[in-house]
Amino acid sequence: MSKSVYWCNNCGVPIINNNICPLCNSKCKSISTNGICNPVFVQEKKLLSCIMEEDNNSKNIWYLGNSYYLIDGKRIRLPYIEYYKNKQHLNIAALLRNDIIKDDVIPNYESYVSANERYINELIYEAENYISNLTELYSSKDIPYIPTVSFSGGKDSTVVSRLVRDALQDERIIHFFGDTTLEFPATHTYVENYFRKENPFTPMIPSETEKDFFKLCKIFGPPSKFQRWCCTIFKTSNLNNEYQNLNGNSLSFLGIRHSESKERQKYERTQDHSKIGSQVNAMPIIEWEDCDVWLYMLYKRIAFNDAYRYGYKRVGCWCCPNNSNWSTMLTEIYYPELAQKWRNLLYDFAEKTGKTDVEDYVENGKWKTRKDPTGLETRNVTIADTPCNLSDRARNIIIKRKITKEIIEYIKPFGQISMLDKDNATYITITEQKGIDSEGNSFQERKVCDLIITWGTTVLKVLPAPGIDWKLLVNRLKCQMRKYQYCIRCSACDSVCPHGAINTFGDVRYQIDETKCPQNLNICSRCIAKFYNGCITCQVLAAKKKDEENL
Ligand code: SF4
Ligand code: SF4
Ligand SMILES: [Zn+2]
Repeated sequence: MSKSVYWCNNCGVPIINNNICPLCNSKCKSISTNGICNPVFVQEKKLLSCIMEEDNNSKNIWYLGNSYYLIDGKRIRLPYIEYYKNKQHLNIAALLRNDIIKDDVIPNYESYVSANERYINELIYEAENYISNLTELYSSKDIPYIPTVSFSGGKDSTVVSRLVRDALQDERIIHFFGDTTLEFPATHTYVENYFRKENPFTPMIPSETEKDFFKLCKIFGPPSKFQRWCCTIFKTSNLNNEYQNLNGNSLSFLGIRHSESKERQKYERTQDHSKIGSQVNAMPIIEWEDCDVWLYMLYKRIAFNDAYRYGYKRVGCWCCPNNSNWSTMLTEIYYPELAQKWRNLLYDFAEKTGKTDVEDYVENGKWKTRKDPTGLETRNVTIADTPCNLSDRARNIIIKRKITKEIIEYIKPFGQISMLDKDNATYITITEQKGIDSEGNSFQERKVCDLIITWGTTVLKVLPAPGIDWKLLVNRLKCQMRKYQYCIRCSACDSVCPHGAINTFGDVRYQIDETKCPQNLNICSRCIAKFYNGCITCQVLAAKKKDEENL
């Protein structure tokens, strides 16, 4: 249930979860039931004035979600879509971006804070308790967990950063800044010029991917709501690498909240992957809503990302297909070069892939809902497997690329490997240590399969050991063979491994460090079928789908 926000007409402030104003005792009216009541600053007010054709600059304005604003106590819906579609914003863009006001304070600040002080202090108390209890619990483990903050430059991680340092009374908590390379310039300015200056003792470790987003767009097409190949590659990939450099495990505090999306509503507050990984995710503000986050930042007088002053409601990648028209309009106003670069890419893509109405595809955001690789050079990623006369359950997996010793890297997750050269062929035996078989019996050691390869050919012979689900085994091996065949070193696999065992940046294309990988599918098999068909290239560019199941 979202929180309700009320409005005290007397004091001119929003009051969260209380319909009686604690300052003047008058009865307040409900203004929002979705937990959203965000301050609106002068820079956004100037834009509102242009759209509404009336002077709003000195009014008391709050944003209530879904294009609704509260202006001097009156709820109105902002009719900006027409304005945006008619490109009227371009007429005032230069005016707005050449005169940016960054230091205004919200009206009735003191009343707003004191009316909500008790409420916010209860939230803070609860969140800080959670943080300190969890840190204590995990610091007493055999390999201690080091508290860290995953920082994006947005409001949620800004709040978590302050909460964690206050709860632990330690300014030196390590922060990882996951730079996607597609951040708003305001985010970099915030991290460099505000956050670092305000918090000189807090280490902020930048983590930037080496991948070129625009080059990958040429291969995969621009990301869409249904084809978000970029998230894994640009968001998580290098952060995971940074965690590996910690001198211990990481207790990572994240600014994730349930109210952000349907998917996130399912998240547990603490995600303990410690059985298979070295990272525990903790989300202190998981139940907080937008109104809480803003109240906290204003109450604590924390510097925040200027993008919010411009009117952005969320701060993420500037070209994300999930960005609203509002957000795109702001990017066209404040970052015209970026907007133009993106538009050029979309036009190129639409033309290259033969869209019938190129302008409609770009200007009306049709690219955002692209579901398949339409028009891109697709690949039939089906890999054949045929019966093998060596046994009833033996199969030949046939690929297009000649098999070299590089293949060993891809089969490491299946178990311990031993090799024997005999009669022009190499016999590879894979053995699993400790586990539970399909009948529920535990075993100390069992053979998974034999593989027979003649180097330089395109056939992998698989002889599953008794008791092994051979179909699953063959499908998993096919996933790995696809990686072997199609890997373009996008680095997504690196980020999938909770142990940081996979490296696609090294001398060879794909490497698994067996000192980090447990080599036991009972413990971890994450990398194998994380992406549909095994590899993101196949997932995005697959001409035929649904040929592998039940992995
Ligand atoms: S195997 Fe595929 S998903 Fe993995 S790093 Fe290579 S290209 Fe990316
Ligand atoms: S994700 Fe793959 S490489 Fe990493 S530990 Fe698990 S099985 Fe091993
Ligand atoms: Zn009041």
